[in-house]
Amino acid sequence: MRAWPGSRPVGTLPAVRTGLAAALADLLLPRVCAGCGVPGAVLCRPCASSLAVPHLAQPRRFPAGFPPTVAAGRYAGPVRPAVNAFKEHGRAELARPLGAALALAVAAVRSGLDDPGAPVLLVPVPSSAAALRARGRDHVRELAARAATELRAAGVPASVARLLRRVGRARDSAGLTAAERRANLAGTLRLRPGALPPGAALVVVDDVVTSGATLTAAAGVLAPLAAPGGPPVLAAVVAATPRRTPRGTSPGKPHRARDRLSGQGGGD
Ligand SMILES: [Zn+2]
Repeated sequence: MRAWPGSRPVGTLPAVRTGLAAALADLLLPRVCAGCGVPGAVLCRPCASSLAVPHLAQPRRFPAGFPPTVAAGRYAGPVRPAVNAFKEHGRAELARPLGAALALAVAAVRSGLDDPGAPVLLVPVPSSAAALRARGRDHVRELAARAATELRAAGVPASVARLLRRVGRARDSAGLTAAERRANLAGTLRLRPGALPPGAALVVVDDVVTSGATLTAAAGVLAPLAAPGGPPVLAAVVAATPRRTPRGTSPGKPHRARDRLSGQGGGD
């Protein structure tokens, strides 16, 4: 039988008590789905299926230089609370299902390459220093690591390369035009040294794409690393903010990935 350290009562060890409380909560409280709140899995099957509809992300105003980007699902319905629970509320156990969704998006965007067997390098969009301080973790890096693991398990040569870093801080983007926002963001992203396997496809990864400004800025910074004549810088995200549909119409069913991918021609 295991003995407690020394013979002090547990009540005098606040750290141990806190750890115990967390462990007990894990044991006693039923897990609920981060998408819909149903007890059971961290992400129930129906909610997880919302993240298995890979499609080309199409921001409302396509920024010039926006990379070919596949999202695993729409940032709507149960996907929103699930992503936010992982990102803002510390539900780190969601790295597994969300990382699997990201892996699906990476595999889909890679399938549009001339050489679909190319190894992929996942380049996480770095968080700002302020976001890192507030969250205490780099959630996109966690997603990228999980996605690379999933891809390798499926036989895809994949690894994570932290080729981007943030410098300084972006100005508040409120009130800026799309072009100003891109310039604002691009000014805070820099290349960091890293070895590139020859022939590897660079895939910028992030949690959510909305305007496309961040992915465009990241792809612009990475562009000099892409081999001349080789594949363009690609991007993959867990979810894309759906475009608002005109009033009086309802959003159509998501197209199958292949339809959307072939519609875009697999790159620009
Ligand atoms: Zn659910």
